[in-house]
Amino acid sequence: MGEHGGPYGERVDYLICDEAQFCSEQQVEDLARIVDEMEVDVFAFGLTTDFRTRLFPGSCRLIELADRVEVLQVQALCWCGRRATHNARTVDGVMVVEGEQVVIGDVETTGASGDAKREVGYGTLCRLHHTRRMTAAAAKAATMSPDVLPFGS
Ligand SMILES: [Zn+2]
Repeated sequence: MGEHGGPYGERVDYLICDEAQFCSEQQVEDLARIVDEMEVDVFAFGLTTDFRTRLFPGSCRLIELADRVEVLQVQALCWCGRRATHNARTVDGVMVVEGEQVVIGDVETTGASGDAKREVGYGTLCRLHHTRRMTAAAAKAATMSPDVLPFGS
């Protein structure tokens, strides 16, 4: 781009691949070939594991093939104050540990009619609270005095 007359025929020094967890295994292998055969550095950023604590296939292949893997120092904390290392998915506010690996947050449309909409969100938790499915909202509800429960009565 720019003064050299367009995007074609110019030397690429490096590639940056963001949200790399969404790469397929094949795409990651292609990236490795770009590094080896074209001598272009590739920097991939992304999550390693999904809300079920399983590696994304693309992230798994990246870890297998990468020359170097660095854990970025993220400041995310669980509501309890521990370092948040796990991703939680919530559907209508309730944490789930099963489902499609990739669902973009916000609103998921279910069913062919498209009338059933569920709010899908993501948060970060420490491993303990991920295992216990204790999101910040769940923890708050659990510490509420029993005499304000049940809701909506
Ligand atoms: Zn925690």
